[in-house]
Amino acid sequence: MQKKGIAILGSTGSIGTQALEVIEVYPEKFNLEVITANYNADLLIKQAIKHKPNMVVIADEAQYQKVNDALWDHDIKVFAGADALAQVCETQEVDTVLTALVGYAGLKPTLTAIRAGKNIALANKETLVVAGEIVTKEAAERGVNIYPVDSEHSAIFQCLVGEFHNPIEKIYLTASGGPFRGWKREQLIDVKKEQALKHPNWEMGAKITIDSASLMNKGLEVIEAKWLFNLRPDQIDVIVHPQSIVHSIVQFEDGSMKAQMGLPDMKLPIQFALTYPDRFKTDFPRFNFMDYPNLTFEQPDRETFNNLNLAFQAMEMGGNAACALNAANEITVASFLKDEISFLDIARINEKTMLETTAVKVPTYEDYVASDAEARRLALEFIQK
Ligand code: NDP
Repeated sequence: MQKKGIAILGSTGSIGTQALEVIEVYPEKFNLEVITANYNADLLIKQAIKHKPNMVVIADEAQYQKVNDALWDHDIKVFAGADALAQVCETQEVDTVLTALVGYAGLKPTLTAIRAGKNIALANKETLVVAGEIVTKEAAERGVNIYPVDSEHSAIFQCLVGEFHNPIEKIYLTASGGPFRGWKREQLIDVKKEQALKHPNWEMGAKITIDSASLMNKGLEVIEAKWLFNLRPDQIDVIVHPQSIVHSIVQFEDGSMKAQMGLPDMKLPIQFALTYPDRFKTDFPRFNFMDYPNLTFEQPDRETFNNLNLAFQAMEMGGNAACALNAANEITVASFLKDEISFLDIARINEKTMLETTAVKVPTYEDYVASDAEARRLALEFIQK
């Protein structure tokens, strides 16, 4: 494998910091070209001094001077702002862009990177949820690969290696069920963000942790899978697997099922997205069957956790519906994290917003931008009512 130039968008987050850990083990395989943060200038500076990328971007322009002053004698170029975040992806030395920022903000830099012919290691699922049709079409037109980082989608991808010519009959995305697995609506009325932020198996950023508790994360993943693997909604099923050992399953047309397994550790899917088709030796802890004598599976409770239904509904509605659902969810989760709405309000307002956002059947990029803005405005209105 030739040395790969890597850009990590969102290096200060949960995926971003783990990606840096992966990359630093293989200095002969990777050149770190770009790292970026939104507000966390202190960590970005620390990372830059330690990992020596060629460029850093701080999205918050007010902190440009601070980052620039700290790095002036380190031979690292410093940029600021959302446009710079997209532009650095075009740099010639970058081969693969790891999109590890959170939410809709990932769409523009991902499209810019694809248009510049860069392969994508995609953690930022919201990009495919919002504009999957445009993103996958543009990637296919330019021969750009999108390698999944999400553990479930990486699992499906790993099961498909050597099988790309064999049609998929169905996939099963596994879900841990989150901290409220087995809970009913009456128990969820008063839950606090501290409870929702306690994921049983994964340490992740705040937004995805709340999404996991509300099953919105699994809904977003269903839509992500549709675009990544070109599936119809009826080919995608969700199964709750509380131990998070089976990361997902593919069923082929002969009835055979392949699953990918391992201890829950995001470093593995991050690494595979950067090294595919190779597998590099790691010292990650190995799975021991005797530690898990019972792997269990159960149906998700779609009645209590309506967000999962909303994702399937968005796929049926098509057009900009998933974009509206995603925008609503970014607003409701932020609002829940500020104690402004209850946990059950998240799905309620998400649904109302998705249904009331002006429908666009075949959206352009500009339509998605407008729908995102409209849905955010509506969701805020519903929160204030
Ligand atoms: P975090 O919140 O931990 O990190 C997000 C990163 O993106 C930070 O570097 C943050 O900067 C930056 N960022 C956030 N908003 C913006 C913005 N508007 N503009 C520019 N940069 C921004 O998130 P995670 O790492 O948990 O998740 C990242 C993505 O990966 C999400 O889409 C998530 O769904 C997906 N994912 C995450 C998994 C996980 O285990 N964490 C598993 C599978 C998928 P700053 O630090 O300055 O705020």
